[in-house]
Amino acid sequence: MIKIEFSLAIALFLILTVCLVLISWMFFDKKKQLGPFSSEKAFFWQCSICTYVYVDSKHNTISQCPRCGSYNKKEEAA
Ligand SMILES: [Zn+2]
Repeated sequence: MIKIEFSLAIALFLILTVCLVLISWMFFDKKKQLGPFSSEKAFFWQCSICTYVYVDSKHNTISQCPRCGSYNKKEEAA
């Protein structure tokens, strides 16, 4: 009897934790899309040659990789 109640408590705790994580994750994801992070994210570039990630706020369409010197074109995927 006690064992069943204990497992039920653990199950409820797990369900509550998963729900809390999911809700907070959804809230954070929504906030990230609406917040100032979206404009900040546009400055991030990933080199298609060496996969180096760098920040370039001066250029919008094309940027030069500081590591290998190759030019990268901005992809409008997001
Ligand atoms: Zn590169």
